Amino acid sequence: MEDIRKDQLIKKIWYEVSQSLDLDIECPPYRLIFEKRATYNQSPENNKMVSQLKFSVDNAFLIGDWTEFNFPCSIESSILSAKKICAKLAMES
Ligand SMILES: Cc1cc2nc3c(=O)[nH]c(=O)nc-3n(C[C@H](O)[C@H](O)[C@H](O)COP(=O)(O)OP(=O)(O)OC[C@H]3O[C@@H](n4cnc5c(N)ncnc54)[C@H](O)[C@@H]3O)c2cc1C
Repeated sequence: MEDIRKDQLIKKIWYEVSQSLDLDIECPPYRLIFEKRATYNQSPENNKMVSQLKFSVDNAFLIGDWTEFNFPCSIESSILSAKKICAKLAMES
């Protein structure tokens, strides 16, 4: 992320936002903030460790942003992990 130029990054972000919200306007003034503490370190080693986790309690489940190791830790990945467990439980009931 730090290798990408900020103006290129904001261009990409604004493109996605304007597409999603159907906006036909120039990017407004912005301030780009990098928050290093927003997630744990999703290094290949850590992702591998999470992918190999075995949880052996039948009626309890691991959910949370970090369990979706194929995606960056975010609100979306925490929702996705919960949705997957809900779908699994619905199938089993
Ligand atoms: C500064 C910052 C900025 C961020 N910005 C963004 C952003 O712009 N967009 C985005 O998508 N994501 C952002 N994130 C990441 C996002 O907040 C997380 O990915 C998301 O909140 C993870 O949700 P979660 O439910 O998996 O875990 P959490 O939100 O961490 O929830 C876990 C909960 O479990 C509780 N808990 C922990 N241990 C115990 C225990 N033993 N007993 C009972 N309760 C316990 C905790 O108190 C917490 O409330 C940001 C994070 C930070 C820190």
